[in-house]
This record gives sequence, structure tokens and C-alpha cells, in this order.
Amino acid sequence: MVFLNADICRADLLVELEGIVVRDHVSNLRHTPEWEHLPAGQQPQWGDHPAYERVKATLTAAPPLVLPGEVRELRDRLAEVAAGEAHVLQIGDCAESFYESTPDHTRAKIEALDALAGRLGHHTGRGVVRIGRIGGQYAKPRSTPFEVVDGVELPAFRGHMVNAEGRSPEARKHDPVRMLWAYHFSDEVQRTLRGHRGATLHGVHPGPWSSHDALVMDYTGALVRVDEATGDRFLGSTHYPWVGERTGDPGHAHVALLGSVINPVACKIGPRSTPDGVLALCRALDPHREPGRLTFIVRMGSADIGTLLPPVVRAVRDAGHPVVWLSDPMHGNTVKLPSGIKVRHLDHLVDEALRFRDILRAHGQHPGGLHLETAAEDVTECIGGPVHGPDDVERHYTTLCDPRLNSEQAAHLVDRVFGPA
Ligand code: PEP
Ligand code: MN
Repeated sequence: MVFLNADICRADLLVELEGIVVRDHVSNLRHTPEWEHLPAGQQPQWGDHPAYERVKATLTAAPPLVLPGEVRELRDRLAEVAAGEAHVLQIGDCAESFYESTPDHTRAKIEALDALAGRLGHHTGRGVVRIGRIGGQYAKPRSTPFEVVDGVELPAFRGHMVNAEGRSPEARKHDPVRMLWAYHFSDEVQRTLRGHRGATLHGVHPGPWSSHDALVMDYTGALVRVDEATGDRFLGSTHYPWVGERTGDPGHAHVALLGSVINPVACKIGPRSTPDGVLALCRALDPHREPGRLTFIVRMGSADIGTLLPPVVRAVRDAGHPVVWLSDPMHGNTVKLPSGIKVRHLDHLVDEALRFRDILRAHGQHPGGLHLETAAEDVTECIGGPVHGPDDVERHYTTLCDPRLNSEQAAHLVDRVFGPA
């Protein structure tokens, strides 16, 4: 439909997308959503960009990228995971690239997901729910809003939905038209995913399904839709949204939005999470204690998980919330090399994932699976396995944000956590 041929997104996509209308079986919200006036961290600073209002109106009129029936199907699959009968494998880029949304790129990512899920299922003899960090993972929270590049302070790269990774003030400007590009490329990817769904692998559930961090409220807020058949609200940007470690305050806008839709939803649980805070998330997101509705993605770090996770698991278990527990062993184990490059050590990732598994089991709970940052290509961004040390890292380091595992490293992790001892 549209060809992106410049580093800076073109405003004419606005015109292209303005012509589209909502499908007739879904409609838009009729009143001001409850999250509208709540605080929201990590939001882009669009300034007074002249296209902002038109972009929001265009997204509000656009068809949803996922359908309510798909969202319900995934919830049913996740209910099986909550019951201990299956596992989740959720993998993909830290930040997806607009330039890697072609059917070829997407097929390569699906192949990598299928291969790793097949491996996991082979070890456990159970079904694997396959989820990509894909088809919308275009926005990043950042710990520091600026970075110094060659002595110049630049706004941080926040994902292709917000700005560009280039090292210039122009590239780093927040541009709301990028939200339309994000919609467009998500649509491309979702079409490819849909083409693969139904092709059920042996011992593996239907899939793959999509997920992304529900970070940019202007985008997700504009893509909430109502299923006319049931009156249910759903988030039309992805099947399985999550809120990140920095935006998971139970009283804030991100959690309120996820609380208002029927999608299965996930929250990252980090070193700052407390049993009380996690219970507040349970009340906000799973008031009816429904299996498959809520997932906790634990990313505490291998050094801290042993002390921090057990009280959280006990609190959730004793409150009777049938959540899915996943381990993200990546985000609590990131270190910087002297060169400033971010890396992760495979040993630390294995260590956190094993501790996670053992803590869940010790509490009679099901370690539901893994949430990993991976590349379909043979990248050298994490140390371990075929990547021997810091000197080896720069060979093929192409991530837009955090360091990803290559397929061999990801397979090693899955074998260690789910394979024979
Ligand atoms: C991420 O998943 O890329 C991420 C930023 O995670 P977290 O919110 O857990 O830091
Ligand atoms: Mn990341």
C-alpha cells in the first residue's frame, strides 16, 4: 500500500489512511474513557505538532488490527496455561523496526518462534502458546530521557512509533505521524501472522499471536473498540498487551486502559514490586479471578529474584488469582560494557529463569513459560554460547534497543529450563 523510502516518515500516509472506516461489527467508544485524566508516565512529547489532532482522529476511525474473536481465543489458550496444562513462549525484538515489517521478515520471525516452541513442547510434552513481541512493538520506555552522543545531548530513542534511532536532533524529534506508520506496519505484520494461524503444529496450539507494550496512550487509547455483538471493549492494536515495569502503577492510565478491555493482559513485575502493589494490580486487572485474564512477567534480576519473588507468589496465590506466571530473565540482567554497549550474559539469564521455575514449583504454582528478547538473525548481542566474550559482541550487533538472544542462545536457555536435568 505505502512505501517508506525515507528516514523521516512522510506526512502523506495521513491522507492515505484518512479514507478508511471502522468495520461494521465494531464501533468506537461513545464517552470519555476512564484513563483520560489519569497520570501516564513515559509519554512522547509531541509539542504542538500540527498533525497531532488529525493523526488521533485517523487512528480513531481506523479498523482494529486484531479481532475480538481472536482475543477471546487467546484468552482460552492462556487459561490452559494458568491451569498448568500448557506453556507460553513469548519472544521477539526489544523494539521492532518499521524497516523489518515485510512478509519475509515476519516469516523469518515466525519460523524462529515455531522452532523454539517446538523445542519447548518436545521437552514438556505439553502445548505451547506462541506469542511474538511483534506487530506493534514500536514504542520504548527509557530510564533516562537524554543520552550524550559525541558530547551532544540528544533525546533518547523511544521506538519507531515516536522517533528515529539516528544520532541527530532531527531524528530524535517526537513525530505523531509515526503513530500512523506504526499502525500501517502493524497491519502488514498482522496480515502475515494471520496467514500462519490455523497451521497447527504437532503438539502446539494455534497461533502465533501478537503482543506489545501498551506504552503510548495516544495510540492505544485511539484503538480501543467495542465489539457490537457483545458490547465488550477490546484493544484493537494487539492480542496481548502488557504494561512495563515503569508504567505499571495500579492507579495510573496504562493499568486503567488494560482494566477496561477484554484482552488477556500482562504486567511486568520488577525489583520495585511489592506484594501489596501486585495485589492492587490483581484487583484492577483480574477482579473476577478469571484464568487466562492476567499474566505476570517477572523480571527481577538473578541476584534479587530469590528474595523478592516468593512473597509476591504467596500473596497472589493466597488471594486466589489464577494468573499466568512468565519469566523475563532479560531485563533484570542488563549490563554495560566499558564501550557503553549493553549486553546480557546467557549464564545470568539461565540462572534467573531456573530460580523462577524453582520458586514457582516450591509454591505449588505453574512456571508458565518464558518472555525473551530474541532475533531471527544470527546476532551477537548477548554473551554466551557462540558469542565468547566482550570482543565478540560487536560482530553483529544490530538491535535498536536492548540486546537479543540469537537462536542458538535461546535454544540453550529453553533446554536448561525445560529440558532433562
Ligand atoms: C521491554 O520489555 O523491552 C522493557 C522495556 O521491559 P521492562 O518494562 O520490563 O523494563
Ligand atoms: Mn527490552
